[in-house]
Amino acid sequence: MKDNNNPQDPILTSGRHISYWTDSVTVSLPGTLNENLETDVVIVGGGLAGMSVAYCLAKTGKKVVLVEDGLIGSGETGRTTAHFVTSLDDRYYNFENIFGEEKTKLIAESHRVAIDFVEKTVKEEHIDCGFERINGYLFLHPSDKKDSLERELKAALRAGVEIKALDRVPGILKDEKCLCFLNQAQFHPLKYLDGLAKAIQEKGGKIFTGTHASKIDKEGITTAQEFTVKAKHIVVATNNPVNNFFAMQLKQYAYRTYVIGSLVKKDSVPKALWWDTGDFKSDANVPPYHYIRVHPYNEQYDLLISGGEDHPTGDTNTSGVAEEDRYSLVESWTRAYFPIEDVVYRWSGQVMEPMDGIAFIGRNALDHDNIYVVTGDSGNGMTHCSFAGLLISDLINGKENKWEELYKPSRFTLKKSRRALTQIKYDFISYFKQFPNFKGPEELSSVKNGEAKIVGMLEENFGVYRNPEGKLHIVSAQCTHVKCTLCWNSDELSWDCSCHGSRFTYEGKVINGPANRDLPTYKELENL
Ligand SMILES: Cc1cc2nc3c(=O)[nH]c(=O)nc-3n(C[C@H](O)[C@H](O)[C@H](O)COP(=O)(O)OP(=O)(O)OC[C@H]3O[C@@H](n4cnc5c(N)ncnc54)[C@H](O)[C@@H]3O)c2cc1C
Repeated sequence: MKDNNNPQDPILTSGRHISYWTDSVTVSLPGTLNENLETDVVIVGGGLAGMSVAYCLAKTGKKVVLVEDGLIGSGETGRTTAHFVTSLDDRYYNFENIFGEEKTKLIAESHRVAIDFVEKTVKEEHIDCGFERINGYLFLHPSDKKDSLERELKAALRAGVEIKALDRVPGILKDEKCLCFLNQAQFHPLKYLDGLAKAIQEKGGKIFTGTHASKIDKEGITTAQEFTVKAKHIVVATNNPVNNFFAMQLKQYAYRTYVIGSLVKKDSVPKALWWDTGDFKSDANVPPYHYIRVHPYNEQYDLLISGGEDHPTGDTNTSGVAEEDRYSLVESWTRAYFPIEDVVYRWSGQVMEPMDGIAFIGRNALDHDNIYVVTGDSGNGMTHCSFAGLLISDLINGKENKWEELYKPSRFTLKKSRRALTQIKYDFISYFKQFPNFKGPEELSSVKNGEAKIVGMLEENFGVYRNPEGKLHIVSAQCTHVKCTLCWNSDELSWDCSCHGSRFTYEGKVINGPANRDLPTYKELENL
Protein backbone atom coordinates (compact mmCIF):
# COMPACT_ATOMS: atom_id res chain seq x y z
CA MET A 1 0.00 0.00 0.00
CA LYS A 2 1.30 3.48 -0.82
CA ASP A 3 0.55 6.24 1.65
CA ASN A 4 1.62 9.86 1.61
CA ASN A 5 4.79 10.14 3.71
CA ASN A 6 3.88 13.70 4.46
CA PRO A 7 0.12 13.47 4.99
CA GLN A 8 -0.33 17.09 6.03
CA ASP A 9 1.00 18.15 2.63
CA PRO A 10 -2.08 18.47 0.41
CA ILE A 11 0.01 19.63 -2.52
CA LEU A 12 0.55 16.00 -3.48
CA THR A 13 -2.94 14.56 -3.26
CA SER A 14 -6.19 15.09 -1.37
CA GLY A 15 -5.75 12.46 1.33
CA ARG A 16 -3.38 9.98 2.94
CA HIS A 17 -3.55 7.21 0.32
CA ILE A 18 -1.70 7.42 -2.96
CA SER A 19 -3.31 6.21 -6.16
CA TYR A 20 -1.49 4.06 -8.69
CA TRP A 21 -1.55 7.02 -11.11
CA THR A 22 0.17 9.41 -8.69
CA ASP A 23 2.66 6.69 -7.80
CA SER A 24 3.56 5.92 -11.41
CA VAL A 25 4.37 9.33 -12.90
CA THR A 26 6.12 12.53 -11.96
CA VAL A 27 3.58 15.25 -12.57
CA SER A 28 4.46 18.70 -13.90
CA LEU A 29 5.24 21.47 -11.46
CA PRO A 30 5.37 24.65 -13.56
CA GLY A 31 5.74 26.87 -10.44
CA THR A 32 3.75 29.50 -8.54
CA LEU A 33 2.40 32.78 -9.85
CA ASN A 34 4.43 35.70 -8.52
CA GLU A 35 3.29 38.66 -10.62
CA ASN A 36 0.04 40.35 -11.68
CA LEU A 37 -1.29 39.27 -15.08
CA GLU A 38 -4.01 40.19 -17.57
CA THR A 39 -5.51 37.61 -19.88
CA ASP A 40 -8.58 36.61 -21.90
CA VAL A 41 -9.54 33.71 -19.64
CA VAL A 42 -8.41 32.64 -16.18
CA ILE A 43 -9.15 29.06 -15.17
CA VAL A 44 -9.12 27.90 -11.55
CA GLY A 45 -8.30 24.19 -11.13
CA GLY A 46 -5.80 21.92 -12.88
CA GLY A 47 -7.83 18.70 -13.01
CA LEU A 48 -9.29 17.18 -16.17
CA ALA A 49 -12.00 19.87 -16.41
CA GLY A 50 -9.73 22.91 -16.06
CA MET A 51 -7.03 21.46 -18.30
CA SER A 52 -9.54 20.49 -21.03
CA VAL A 53 -11.05 23.99 -20.96
CA ALA A 54 -7.59 25.61 -21.08
CA TYR A 55 -6.52 23.38 -23.98
CA CYS A 56 -9.65 23.98 -26.08
CA LEU A 57 -9.47 27.75 -25.55
CA ALA A 58 -5.73 27.93 -26.25
CA LYS A 59 -6.38 26.06 -29.49
CA THR A 60 -8.81 28.77 -30.59
CA GLY A 61 -6.17 31.45 -29.97
CA LYS A 62 -7.43 32.72 -26.61
CA LYS A 63 -4.86 33.83 -24.03
CA VAL A 64 -5.35 31.54 -21.02
CA VAL A 65 -3.92 31.44 -17.50
CA LEU A 66 -4.62 28.40 -15.32
CA VAL A 67 -3.99 28.35 -11.56
CA GLU A 68 -3.91 25.17 -9.51
CA ASP A 69 -3.30 25.14 -5.78
CA GLY A 70 -1.68 21.69 -5.75
CA LEU A 71 -0.08 19.91 -8.68
CA ILE A 72 -1.66 19.26 -12.05
CA GLY A 73 -4.04 16.36 -11.35
CA SER A 74 -3.63 16.38 -7.58
CA GLY A 75 -7.41 16.55 -7.04
CA GLU A 76 -9.92 13.86 -8.00
CA THR A 77 -8.35 13.36 -11.45
CA GLY A 78 -5.34 11.79 -9.74
CA ARG A 79 -7.73 9.45 -7.88
CA THR A 80 -10.03 8.42 -10.72
CA THR A 81 -10.24 5.05 -12.47
CA ALA A 82 -10.55 6.76 -15.88
CA HIS A 83 -13.28 4.77 -17.64
CA PHE A 84 -14.45 6.77 -20.69
CA VAL A 85 -17.97 5.63 -21.29
CA THR A 86 -21.26 6.00 -23.05
CA SER A 87 -22.65 3.59 -20.45
CA LEU A 88 -23.92 6.28 -18.09
CA ASP A 89 -24.32 5.37 -14.44
CA ASP A 90 -27.73 7.03 -14.08
CA ARG A 91 -29.13 4.80 -16.87
CA TYR A 92 -30.75 5.89 -20.12
CA TYR A 93 -34.19 4.69 -19.01
CA ASN A 94 -34.02 7.21 -16.13
CA PHE A 95 -32.83 10.00 -18.44
CA GLU A 96 -35.79 9.39 -20.73
CA ASN A 97 -38.10 9.94 -17.74
CA ILE A 98 -36.32 13.11 -16.65
CA PHE A 99 -35.36 14.70 -19.98
CA GLY A 100 -37.43 12.90 -22.65
CA GLU A 101 -36.16 10.91 -25.65
CA GLU A 102 -34.73 13.76 -27.73
CA LYS A 103 -32.58 15.20 -24.95
CA THR A 104 -31.47 11.70 -23.94
CA LYS A 105 -30.09 11.30 -27.49
CA LEU A 106 -28.18 14.57 -27.01
CA ILE A 107 -26.80 13.30 -23.69
CA ALA A 108 -25.55 10.09 -25.32
CA GLU A 109 -24.04 12.02 -28.21
CA SER A 110 -22.13 14.38 -25.89
CA HIS A 111 -20.33 11.48 -24.20
CA ARG A 112 -19.47 9.97 -27.60
CA VAL A 113 -18.16 13.36 -28.75
CA ALA A 114 -16.07 13.62 -25.56
CA ILE A 115 -14.38 10.24 -26.16
CA ASP A 116 -13.70 11.12 -29.82
CA PHE A 117 -12.25 14.49 -28.73
CA VAL A 118 -9.83 12.83 -26.29
CA GLU A 119 -8.78 10.26 -28.91
CA LYS A 120 -8.15 13.03 -31.46
CA THR A 121 -6.23 15.14 -28.92
CA VAL A 122 -4.03 12.19 -27.95
CA LYS A 123 -3.15 11.70 -31.64
CA GLU A 124 -2.69 15.37 -32.53
CA GLU A 125 -0.58 16.19 -29.49
CA HIS A 126 1.30 12.85 -29.48
CA ILE A 127 0.36 12.13 -25.86
CA ASP A 128 1.73 8.79 -24.67
CA CYS A 129 -0.97 7.94 -22.10
CA GLY A 130 -2.06 4.44 -23.11
CA PHE A 131 -5.36 5.63 -24.59
CA GLU A 132 -7.21 2.64 -25.99
CA ARG A 133 -10.70 1.76 -27.16
CA ILE A 134 -12.22 -1.21 -25.37
CA ASN A 135 -15.65 -2.69 -24.68
CA GLY A 136 -17.53 -2.23 -21.41
CA TYR A 137 -19.86 -4.78 -19.81
CA LEU A 138 -22.80 -3.91 -17.57
CA PHE A 139 -24.30 -6.74 -15.52
CA LEU A 140 -27.09 -6.99 -12.99
CA HIS A 141 -26.55 -6.38 -9.27
CA PRO A 142 -28.54 -9.05 -7.34
CA SER A 143 -30.68 -6.30 -5.73
CA ASP A 144 -31.72 -4.77 -9.07
CA LYS A 145 -34.94 -5.62 -10.96
CA LYS A 146 -34.58 -8.51 -13.41
CA ASP A 147 -35.78 -6.44 -16.38
CA SER A 148 -33.37 -3.57 -15.74
CA LEU A 149 -30.85 -4.65 -18.42
CA GLU A 150 -33.60 -5.10 -20.99
CA ARG A 151 -34.98 -1.61 -20.22
CA GLU A 152 -31.52 -0.11 -20.47
CA LEU A 153 -30.85 -1.88 -23.78
CA LYS A 154 -34.02 -0.46 -25.34
CA ALA A 155 -33.48 3.07 -23.99
CA ALA A 156 -29.78 3.09 -25.00
CA LEU A 157 -30.66 1.91 -28.54
CA ARG A 158 -33.26 4.71 -28.80
CA ALA A 159 -30.51 7.14 -27.71
CA GLY A 160 -28.24 5.92 -30.51
CA VAL A 161 -25.71 4.13 -28.29
CA GLU A 162 -23.58 1.31 -29.80
CA ILE A 163 -24.71 -1.57 -27.61
CA LYS A 164 -25.63 -5.27 -27.74
CA ALA A 165 -26.86 -7.90 -25.30
CA LEU A 166 -24.58 -10.88 -24.49
CA ASP A 167 -25.42 -14.18 -22.76
CA ARG A 168 -22.19 -14.16 -20.79
CA VAL A 169 -19.92 -11.42 -19.42
CA PRO A 170 -16.44 -11.88 -20.94
CA GLY A 171 -13.57 -12.02 -18.42
CA ILE A 172 -15.38 -12.62 -15.12
CA LEU A 173 -15.59 -15.76 -13.02
CA LYS A 174 -19.40 -15.76 -12.80
CA ASP A 175 -21.92 -16.72 -15.40
CA GLU A 176 -23.99 -13.57 -15.96
CA LYS A 177 -25.84 -11.94 -18.83
CA CYS A 178 -24.75 -8.43 -19.72
CA LEU A 179 -24.99 -5.45 -21.99
CA CYS A 180 -21.88 -4.78 -24.07
CA PHE A 181 -21.18 -1.07 -24.69
CA LEU A 182 -18.83 -0.83 -27.68
CA ASN A 183 -16.05 1.69 -28.21
CA GLN A 184 -15.54 2.82 -24.63
CA ALA A 185 -11.99 3.90 -23.69
CA GLN A 186 -9.39 4.12 -20.96
CA PHE A 187 -6.05 5.87 -20.36
CA HIS A 188 -3.54 6.88 -17.69
CA PRO A 189 -5.14 10.15 -16.45
CA LEU A 190 -1.99 11.88 -15.20
CA LYS A 191 0.02 11.07 -18.35
CA TYR A 192 -2.83 12.62 -20.36
CA LEU A 193 -2.82 15.78 -18.19
CA ASP A 194 0.93 16.02 -18.54
CA GLY A 195 0.53 15.94 -22.33
CA LEU A 196 -2.23 18.56 -22.20
CA ALA A 197 -0.04 20.80 -20.01
CA LYS A 198 2.72 20.73 -22.65
CA ALA A 199 0.22 21.40 -25.45
CA ILE A 200 -1.38 24.34 -23.57
CA GLN A 201 2.02 25.93 -22.92
CA GLU A 202 3.11 25.40 -26.55
CA LYS A 203 -0.01 27.28 -27.63
CA GLY A 204 0.94 30.25 -25.41
CA GLY A 205 -1.12 29.32 -22.32
CA LYS A 206 0.33 29.84 -18.83
CA ILE A 207 -0.04 27.32 -16.00
CA PHE A 208 0.80 27.96 -12.35
CA THR A 209 0.83 25.29 -9.64
CA GLY A 210 0.94 25.83 -5.87
CA THR A 211 -1.26 28.87 -6.54
CA HIS A 212 -4.49 29.15 -4.59
CA ALA A 213 -7.25 31.45 -5.90
CA SER A 214 -8.57 33.05 -2.69
CA LYS A 215 -10.94 35.53 -4.28
CA ILE A 216 -12.88 35.03 -7.49
CA ASP A 217 -15.12 37.71 -9.01
CA LYS A 218 -16.13 39.16 -12.37
CA GLU A 219 -12.78 40.96 -12.72
CA GLY A 220 -10.68 37.81 -12.30
CA ILE A 221 -8.92 36.22 -9.34
CA THR A 222 -6.67 37.16 -6.44
CA THR A 223 -4.26 34.53 -5.20
CA ALA A 224 -3.37 33.67 -1.61
CA GLN A 225 -0.09 35.54 -2.21
CA GLU A 226 -2.16 38.65 -3.22
CA PHE A 227 -1.30 38.55 -6.94
CA THR A 228 -4.13 39.23 -9.37
CA VAL A 229 -5.08 37.79 -12.74
CA LYS A 230 -7.50 40.14 -14.49
CA ALA A 231 -9.57 38.38 -17.13
CA LYS A 232 -12.53 38.85 -19.45
CA HIS A 233 -13.80 35.38 -18.56
CA ILE A 234 -13.38 33.29 -15.41
CA VAL A 235 -13.79 29.50 -15.34
CA VAL A 236 -14.07 27.76 -11.97
CA ALA A 237 -13.12 24.11 -12.48
CA THR A 238 -12.46 23.13 -8.87
CA ASN A 239 -14.67 20.03 -9.04
CA ASN A 240 -17.00 21.46 -6.39
CA PRO A 241 -17.20 25.23 -7.11
CA VAL A 242 -15.42 27.37 -4.52
CA ASN A 243 -17.10 30.59 -5.67
CA ASN A 244 -20.66 30.22 -4.41
CA PHE A 245 -22.46 29.36 -1.21
CA PHE A 246 -25.60 27.55 -2.28
CA ALA A 247 -26.38 28.10 -5.98
CA MET A 248 -24.74 24.84 -7.06
CA GLN A 249 -24.28 23.08 -3.73
CA LEU A 250 -27.99 22.38 -3.25
CA LYS A 251 -28.27 20.71 -6.63
CA GLN A 252 -25.71 17.99 -6.01
CA TYR A 253 -24.41 15.67 -3.28
CA ALA A 254 -20.86 14.64 -2.38
CA TYR A 255 -20.08 10.91 -2.18
CA ARG A 256 -16.91 9.09 -1.12
CA THR A 257 -15.88 6.12 -3.28
CA TYR A 258 -13.20 3.44 -2.67
CA VAL A 259 -10.66 1.80 -4.98
CA ILE A 260 -8.21 -1.10 -4.70
CA GLY A 261 -5.44 -2.11 -7.12
CA SER A 262 -4.83 -5.88 -7.14
CA LEU A 263 -2.37 -8.06 -9.01
CA VAL A 264 -3.66 -10.46 -11.67
CA LYS A 265 -1.40 -12.73 -13.78
CA LYS A 266 -0.32 -10.92 -16.94
CA ASP A 267 -2.97 -11.18 -19.68
CA SER A 268 -5.18 -13.46 -17.55
CA VAL A 269 -7.97 -10.86 -17.61
CA PRO A 270 -8.93 -9.28 -20.96
CA LYS A 271 -8.73 -5.53 -21.39
CA ALA A 272 -12.24 -4.24 -20.79
CA LEU A 273 -14.39 -2.20 -18.42
CA TRP A 274 -17.00 -3.81 -16.15
CA TRP A 275 -19.78 -2.41 -13.96
CA ASP A 276 -22.64 -3.88 -11.99
CA THR A 277 -25.92 -1.96 -11.94
CA GLY A 278 -25.61 -0.96 -8.26
CA ASP A 279 -27.03 -1.82 -4.89
CA PHE A 280 -30.72 -0.89 -4.85
CA LYS A 281 -30.99 -1.74 -1.14
CA SER A 282 -28.86 1.29 -0.36
CA ASP A 283 -30.75 4.53 0.29
CA ALA A 284 -28.20 6.58 -1.70
CA ASN A 285 -29.54 8.68 -4.58
CA VAL A 286 -27.44 6.69 -7.05
CA PRO A 287 -27.24 2.99 -6.10
CA PRO A 288 -23.54 2.41 -5.34
CA TYR A 289 -22.05 0.21 -8.04
CA HIS A 290 -18.72 -1.54 -8.71
CA TYR A 291 -16.40 -0.44 -11.52
CA ILE A 292 -13.39 -2.38 -12.79
CA ARG A 293 -10.60 -2.07 -15.37
CA VAL A 294 -7.11 -3.50 -16.03
CA HIS A 295 -3.83 -1.67 -16.51
CA PRO A 296 -0.35 -3.06 -17.36
CA TYR A 297 1.75 -3.23 -14.15
CA ASN A 298 5.01 -5.18 -14.60
CA GLU A 299 6.40 -8.14 -16.60
CA GLN A 300 4.54 -10.67 -14.47
CA TYR A 301 1.33 -8.93 -13.50
CA ASP A 302 -1.41 -6.57 -14.61
CA LEU A 303 -3.15 -4.32 -12.11
CA LEU A 304 -6.88 -4.90 -11.74
CA ILE A 305 -8.35 -1.63 -10.51
CA SER A 306 -11.77 -2.04 -8.90
CA GLY A 307 -13.90 0.41 -6.95
CA GLY A 308 -17.24 1.05 -5.32
CA GLU A 309 -18.89 0.94 -1.86
CA ASP A 310 -19.79 4.65 -2.08
CA HIS A 311 -21.53 6.57 0.69
CA PRO A 312 -22.44 10.23 1.25
CA THR A 313 -19.38 12.17 2.46
CA GLY A 314 -19.16 12.35 6.23
CA ASP A 315 -21.97 9.82 6.68
CA THR A 316 -20.89 6.35 7.70
CA ASN A 317 -23.27 6.24 10.67
CA THR A 318 -26.30 5.10 8.73
CA SER A 319 -24.53 2.08 7.22
CA GLY A 320 -22.31 1.40 10.25
CA VAL A 321 -19.29 0.68 7.98
CA ALA A 322 -16.31 2.97 8.63
CA GLU A 323 -14.42 4.49 5.71
CA GLU A 324 -11.32 2.30 6.16
CA ASP A 325 -13.42 -0.90 6.23
CA ARG A 326 -14.83 -0.20 2.77
CA TYR A 327 -11.69 -1.51 1.03
CA SER A 328 -12.26 -5.03 2.36
CA LEU A 329 -15.81 -4.90 0.99
CA VAL A 330 -14.44 -3.91 -2.43
CA GLU A 331 -11.84 -6.68 -2.12
CA SER A 332 -14.29 -9.47 -1.25
CA TRP A 333 -16.62 -8.39 -4.05
CA THR A 334 -13.67 -8.33 -6.50
CA ARG A 335 -12.44 -11.80 -5.41
CA ALA A 336 -15.86 -13.24 -6.23
CA TYR A 337 -15.59 -11.99 -9.84
CA PHE A 338 -11.86 -11.85 -10.73
CA PRO A 339 -8.79 -14.05 -10.02
CA ILE A 340 -6.90 -11.42 -7.99
CA GLU A 341 -3.80 -12.09 -5.89
CA ASP A 342 -2.30 -9.40 -3.60
CA VAL A 343 -3.91 -5.99 -3.14
CA VAL A 344 -1.11 -3.45 -3.68
CA TYR A 345 -2.97 -0.12 -3.79
CA ARG A 346 -5.97 1.41 -2.10
CA TRP A 347 -7.26 4.94 -2.24
CA SER A 348 -10.53 6.83 -2.00
CA GLY A 349 -11.95 9.90 -3.72
CA GLN A 350 -14.99 12.08 -4.01
CA VAL A 351 -17.63 12.45 -6.71
CA MET A 352 -20.39 15.05 -6.97
CA GLU A 353 -23.75 13.51 -7.83
CA PRO A 354 -26.05 15.99 -9.60
CA MET A 355 -29.76 15.63 -8.80
CA ASP A 356 -30.78 14.90 -12.38
CA GLY A 357 -27.69 12.83 -13.27
CA ILE A 358 -25.85 15.10 -15.72
CA ALA A 359 -23.07 17.61 -15.08
CA PHE A 360 -23.43 21.37 -14.70
CA ILE A 361 -21.30 23.04 -17.39
CA GLY A 362 -21.65 26.67 -18.37
CA ARG A 363 -22.40 30.10 -16.89
CA ASN A 364 -22.58 29.94 -13.11
CA ALA A 365 -26.12 30.12 -11.72
CA LEU A 366 -27.08 33.45 -10.03
CA ASP A 367 -23.78 35.04 -11.05
CA HIS A 368 -22.18 37.39 -13.60
CA ASP A 369 -22.34 36.28 -17.23
CA ASN A 370 -18.57 35.96 -17.58
CA ILE A 371 -18.18 33.40 -14.77
CA TYR A 372 -18.43 29.71 -15.71
CA VAL A 373 -18.38 26.47 -13.70
CA VAL A 374 -17.87 22.78 -14.34
CA THR A 375 -19.28 20.53 -11.64
CA GLY A 376 -21.67 17.64 -10.96
CA ASP A 377 -19.21 15.24 -12.56
CA SER A 378 -20.84 12.04 -11.15
CA GLY A 379 -19.19 8.71 -11.98
CA ASN A 380 -18.95 9.94 -15.58
CA GLY A 381 -16.58 12.83 -14.88
CA MET A 382 -14.00 11.78 -17.48
CA THR A 383 -16.39 12.44 -20.36
CA HIS A 384 -18.20 15.32 -18.59
CA CYS A 385 -14.92 17.16 -17.90
CA SER A 386 -13.53 16.57 -21.40
CA PHE A 387 -16.80 17.71 -22.93
CA ALA A 388 -16.65 20.85 -20.74
CA GLY A 389 -13.56 21.87 -22.72
CA LEU A 390 -15.54 21.92 -25.96
CA LEU A 391 -18.70 23.51 -24.53
CA ILE A 392 -17.10 26.29 -22.47
CA SER A 393 -14.72 27.14 -25.29
CA ASP A 394 -17.75 27.64 -27.60
CA LEU A 395 -19.57 29.77 -25.00
CA ILE A 396 -16.56 32.01 -24.49
CA ASN A 397 -15.97 32.30 -28.24
CA GLY A 398 -19.64 33.23 -28.77
CA LYS A 399 -20.25 30.09 -30.87
CA GLU A 400 -23.63 28.37 -30.81
CA ASN A 401 -23.56 25.00 -29.09
CA LYS A 402 -26.53 22.64 -29.12
CA TRP A 403 -25.68 21.36 -25.63
CA GLU A 404 -25.70 24.79 -23.92
CA GLU A 405 -29.26 24.51 -22.54
CA LEU A 406 -28.92 20.84 -21.57
CA TYR A 407 -25.86 21.33 -19.37
CA LYS A 408 -26.71 24.84 -18.15
CA PRO A 409 -26.01 25.12 -14.38
CA SER A 410 -29.28 27.05 -13.90
CA ARG A 411 -31.38 24.47 -15.79
CA PHE A 412 -33.63 23.79 -12.80
CA THR A 413 -34.58 25.91 -9.83
CA LEU A 414 -34.40 24.86 -6.21
CA LYS A 415 -37.98 25.99 -5.59
CA LYS A 416 -39.16 23.14 -7.78
CA SER A 417 -36.92 20.52 -6.26
CA ARG A 418 -38.19 18.48 -3.33
CA ARG A 419 -34.73 16.93 -2.99
CA ALA A 420 -33.23 20.41 -2.47
CA LEU A 421 -35.62 21.13 0.37
CA THR A 422 -34.64 17.88 2.05
CA GLN A 423 -30.99 18.87 1.66
CA ILE A 424 -31.61 22.28 3.26
CA LYS A 425 -33.26 20.53 6.24
CA TYR A 426 -30.24 18.26 6.52
CA ASP A 427 -27.89 21.29 6.41
CA PHE A 428 -29.74 22.90 9.30
CA ILE A 429 -29.47 19.74 11.39
CA SER A 430 -25.72 19.59 10.71
CA TYR A 431 -25.39 23.28 11.47
CA PHE A 432 -27.09 23.08 14.86
CA LYS A 433 -25.08 19.98 15.79
CA GLN A 434 -22.17 22.36 16.16
CA PHE A 435 -23.16 24.04 19.43
CA PRO A 436 -20.64 23.34 22.18
CA ASN A 437 -21.18 20.73 24.83
CA PHE A 438 -18.80 22.33 27.37
CA LYS A 439 -17.22 19.05 28.36
CA GLY A 440 -14.05 20.86 29.38
CA PRO A 441 -10.41 20.57 28.45
CA GLU A 442 -9.97 17.21 30.13
CA GLU A 443 -11.62 15.71 27.06
CA LEU A 444 -8.40 16.38 25.18
CA SER A 445 -6.66 13.69 27.19
CA SER A 446 -9.33 11.21 26.13
CA VAL A 447 -8.09 11.41 22.51
CA LYS A 448 -5.74 8.43 22.20
CA ASN A 449 -2.77 8.15 19.84
CA GLY A 450 -4.00 7.70 16.26
CA GLU A 451 -7.52 8.86 17.18
CA ALA A 452 -9.57 11.99 16.44
CA LYS A 453 -12.61 13.53 18.16
CA ILE A 454 -14.70 16.67 18.23
CA VAL A 455 -13.89 18.21 21.61
CA GLY A 456 -15.95 21.00 23.17
CA MET A 457 -13.97 23.51 25.24
CA LEU A 458 -13.73 27.26 25.70
CA GLU A 459 -17.26 27.45 24.28
CA GLU A 460 -16.10 26.17 20.90
CA ASN A 461 -15.98 22.85 19.10
CA PHE A 462 -12.52 21.72 18.02
CA GLY A 463 -11.43 18.94 15.72
CA VAL A 464 -8.67 17.17 17.61
CA TYR A 465 -6.38 14.54 16.06
CA ARG A 466 -3.54 12.91 18.01
CA ASN A 467 -1.05 11.29 15.64
CA PRO A 468 0.43 7.81 16.34
CA GLU A 469 3.45 9.47 18.03
CA GLY A 470 1.14 11.42 20.40
CA LYS A 471 1.33 14.87 18.82
CA LEU A 472 -1.95 16.83 18.92
CA HIS A 473 -3.37 18.71 15.94
CA ILE A 474 -6.23 21.06 16.86
CA VAL A 475 -8.42 22.85 14.33
CA SER A 476 -11.85 24.48 14.40
CA ALA A 477 -14.55 21.85 13.82
CA GLN A 478 -16.68 24.28 11.77
CA CYS A 479 -16.46 24.12 7.99
CA THR A 480 -15.35 27.46 6.53
CA HIS A 481 -18.09 27.22 3.89
CA VAL A 482 -21.34 27.54 5.93
CA LYS A 483 -20.12 26.39 9.34
CA CYS A 484 -21.49 22.84 9.41
CA THR A 485 -19.76 20.60 11.95
CA LEU A 486 -17.06 18.44 10.39
CA CYS A 487 -16.74 14.64 10.64
CA TRP A 488 -13.49 12.71 11.01
CA ASN A 489 -12.45 10.52 8.08
CA SER A 490 -10.18 7.96 9.72
CA ASP A 491 -9.18 6.48 6.37
CA GLU A 492 -7.77 9.56 4.62
CA LEU A 493 -7.08 11.38 7.95
CA SER A 494 -9.18 14.37 6.99
CA TRP A 495 -12.02 16.45 8.42
CA ASP A 496 -14.95 16.06 6.00
CA CYS A 497 -18.17 18.06 5.77
CA SER A 498 -21.37 16.09 5.36
CA CYS A 499 -23.30 19.18 4.21
CA HIS A 500 -21.62 19.93 0.88
CA GLY A 501 -18.44 17.85 0.63
CA SER A 502 -15.72 20.28 1.77
CA ARG A 503 -12.64 18.52 3.19
CA PHE A 504 -9.60 19.62 5.21
CA THR A 505 -6.37 17.94 6.28
CA TYR A 506 -5.93 17.37 10.01
CA GLU A 507 -3.74 20.47 9.91
CA GLY A 508 -6.71 22.46 8.63
CA LYS A 509 -5.68 22.93 4.98
CA VAL A 510 -8.69 22.94 2.63
CA ILE A 511 -8.51 20.06 0.09
CA ASN A 512 -12.04 19.98 -1.39
CA GLY A 513 -14.51 22.80 -2.06
CA PRO A 514 -16.94 24.42 -1.74
CA ALA A 515 -14.93 25.75 1.25
CA ASN A 516 -12.10 27.92 -0.04
CA ARG A 517 -10.42 28.87 3.25
CA ASP A 518 -8.34 26.77 5.64
CA LEU A 519 -9.68 25.98 9.12
CA PRO A 520 -8.40 28.12 12.00
CA THR A 521 -5.72 26.19 13.90
CA TYR A 522 -4.89 26.36 17.62
CA LYS A 523 -1.21 25.64 17.99
CA GLU A 524 -1.23 27.19 21.49
CA LEU A 525 -3.65 24.49 22.72
CA GLU A 526 -1.64 21.61 21.29
CA ASN A 527 0.60 21.35 24.35
CA LEU A 528 -2.28 21.19 26.86
C1 LIG B 1 -12.24 6.98 -7.13
C2 LIG B 1 -12.85 7.67 -8.30
C3 LIG B 1 -13.09 6.95 -9.46
C4 LIG B 1 -13.64 7.59 -10.56
N1 LIG B 1 -13.78 6.88 -11.72
C5 LIG B 1 -14.28 7.48 -12.82
C6 LIG B 1 -14.35 6.77 -14.04
O1 LIG B 1 -13.93 5.63 -14.13
N2 LIG B 1 -14.90 7.40 -15.10
C7 LIG B 1 -15.36 8.68 -15.02
O2 LIG B 1 -15.86 9.19 -16.01
N3 LIG B 1 -15.24 9.41 -13.89
C8 LIG B 1 -14.71 8.83 -12.78
N4 LIG B 1 -14.56 9.55 -11.63
C9 LIG B 1 -14.87 10.98 -11.65
C10 LIG B 1 -13.72 11.77 -12.28
O3 LIG B 1 -12.51 11.27 -11.84
C11 LIG B 1 -13.83 13.22 -11.89
O4 LIG B 1 -15.09 13.68 -12.28
C12 LIG B 1 -12.80 14.14 -12.53
O5 LIG B 1 -11.51 13.65 -12.35
C13 LIG B 1 -12.95 15.52 -11.91
O6 LIG B 1 -12.07 16.39 -12.52
P1 LIG B 1 -12.11 17.94 -12.12
O7 LIG B 1 -11.15 18.62 -12.98
O8 LIG B 1 -13.52 18.39 -12.09
O9 LIG B 1 -11.69 17.96 -10.59
P2 LIG B 1 -10.25 17.77 -9.91
O10 LIG B 1 -9.44 16.76 -10.61
O11 LIG B 1 -10.52 17.57 -8.47
O12 LIG B 1 -9.57 19.17 -10.16
C14 LIG B 1 -9.94 20.33 -9.44
C15 LIG B 1 -8.66 21.03 -9.06
O13 LIG B 1 -8.97 22.32 -8.53
C16 LIG B 1 -7.96 22.64 -7.60
N5 LIG B 1 -8.46 23.73 -6.75
C17 LIG B 1 -9.48 23.68 -5.86
N6 LIG B 1 -9.66 24.89 -5.29
C18 LIG B 1 -8.74 25.71 -5.83
C19 LIG B 1 -8.42 27.09 -5.65
N7 LIG B 1 -9.12 27.87 -4.81
N8 LIG B 1 -7.38 27.61 -6.35
C20 LIG B 1 -6.68 26.85 -7.21
N9 LIG B 1 -6.95 25.54 -7.44
C21 LIG B 1 -7.97 24.98 -6.76
C22 LIG B 1 -7.73 21.33 -6.86
O14 LIG B 1 -6.45 21.31 -6.26
C23 LIG B 1 -7.88 20.31 -7.97
O15 LIG B 1 -6.64 19.88 -8.51
C24 LIG B 1 -13.99 8.95 -10.51
C25 LIG B 1 -13.75 9.68 -9.34
C26 LIG B 1 -13.18 9.05 -8.25
C27 LIG B 1 -12.90 9.86 -7.03
